[in-house]
Amino acid sequence: MPSDAIVVGGGVAGLVAARRLALEGLGATVLERTGRLGGQVARQRVGGVDLDAAAESFATRGGAVAALLAELGLGQDIVYPRADPAWLHRADGTAVPLPATGLLGIPGDPLASDVVRAIGRAAAERASLDASLPASEGADASSLGELVRLRMGAAVVDGLVAPVVRGVHSSTPDDLAVERAHPRLREELVRRGSLAAAVLALRAASPAGSAVAGIRGGMFRLVDALEADCARLGVTFELDAAVDDVGLDRVTVAGEVRHGIVVRASGAADPVDDRMVTLVTLVLDAPSLDRAPRGTGILVSADAPGVRARALTHLTAKWDWIAEAFPGRHAVRLSYDGTPDNPIETATRDAGILLAAPLEHVVDANVHRWVRGSAAHASDVAAVGESVSGTGLASVVPHAERIARDISASSRIGRGPRSRARMEG
Ligand SMILES: Cc1cc2nc3c(=O)[nH]c(=O)nc-3n(C[C@H](O)[C@H](O)[C@H](O)COP(=O)(O)OP(=O)(O)OC[C@H]3O[C@@H](n4cnc5c(N)ncnc54)[C@H](O)[C@@H]3O)c2cc1C
Repeated sequence: MPSDAIVVGGGVAGLVAARRLALEGLGATVLERTGRLGGQVARQRVGGVDLDAAAESFATRGGAVAALLAELGLGQDIVYPRADPAWLHRADGTAVPLPATGLLGIPGDPLASDVVRAIGRAAAERASLDASLPASEGADASSLGELVRLRMGAAVVDGLVAPVVRGVHSSTPDDLAVERAHPRLREELVRRGSLAAAVLALRAASPAGSAVAGIRGGMFRLVDALEADCARLGVTFELDAAVDDVGLDRVTVAGEVRHGIVVRASGAADPVDDRMVTLVTLVLDAPSLDRAPRGTGILVSADAPGVRARALTHLTAKWDWIAEAFPGRHAVRLSYDGTPDNPIETATRDAGILLAAPLEHVVDANVHRWVRGSAAHASDVAAVGESVSGTGLASVVPHAERIARDISASSRIGRGPRSRARMEG
């Protein structure tokens, strides 16, 4: 039985797994295809400031990411976004604040005035019937769209949930499994008896009342801290090391076979181009944005006229540390499915429409393209990362920790003198 681990892929999942294996006494080598660690957590420099190029926050549910950050000495740097609501840019081109009590657009209080304003009185009344349906209604739905449609009606799916799911998951409610939307949504529906009650319970369970948090200075600091801690624990890294073939206890890198306990952390089996996401970050001289006209950001309905973006985040209105880094200026980030023509021009035009403000003075801009993966590899090889745990750091981190602990526990059973010595030392 090999006693050292080979982690294929140096994204957050691979780094978390390698660190945990090392803490448990196993040697670990991370093989990363590209020239940098971090995968979808990456930095970019724009307007003279380092900002996140992809993931910018983490869901607070479960507490695993915060616990990891505390272990890595970043606990004091956890920050929460400003409380301003996000907005919804609707199919008719008008904008309304996203209902305050929602989860992924599902209202916790269907008859609240902000829900009525967003979808109309008749649709809100239909949504409120959720309270009188049996808990079993929709409880075995496979997709979020099916679940919400059954309990609250189509208008809630189309008018509220679809733009949020599009903005957050780059998907549609009917393509999003209930567990991927929220791992405890189904369980809470059954326990509380209604979808609205489940939403309120899950919101109440969020630490500090915020469903998401970030790191002062950027999420990419998590990668820096993981790399440093892994190095301290003796984990080795090989960059530009693309693994061609993966087996249970061997991998092939550039024709060379390596033996060890293999952990696949390399993402999806078939990243597909139609799931490409483009992010455009703009730094603007635009005093009209000082009042944050659309709160922390905007989610865009798929049919909204004249706008190509699916979401806009007003970074300087959302995060205090970014506002402090850009005195007198604004930073916004627009997300696109696929790649828009002339991304910077398109993003500047879209931002002007979405923020209802003329934006002519672009100080700096950056474009990043990401290919989102889909299904996991079907194999017996131990796997971590979003293709098996679900998208997002709140899913990826605890899953990678758990799998690494399991691997370490089972390797201990057949462990030879060399690795036992490492554990005891
Ligand atoms: C634009 C964008 C915004 C996001 N925003 C958020 C957010 O705000 N909050 C949040 O929680 N999540 C967010 N996410 C999702 C989150 O970043 C991911 O779920 C998470 O980072 C996935 O980590 P991972 O390690 O599973 O995969 P990855 O980060 O994809 O890492 C996989 C690694 O494996 C390497 N690799 C692949 N194949 C091989 C091979 N054959 N050999 C060696 N190495 C290989 C890749 O190069 C990569 O470094 C966002 C993602 C994107 C793209």
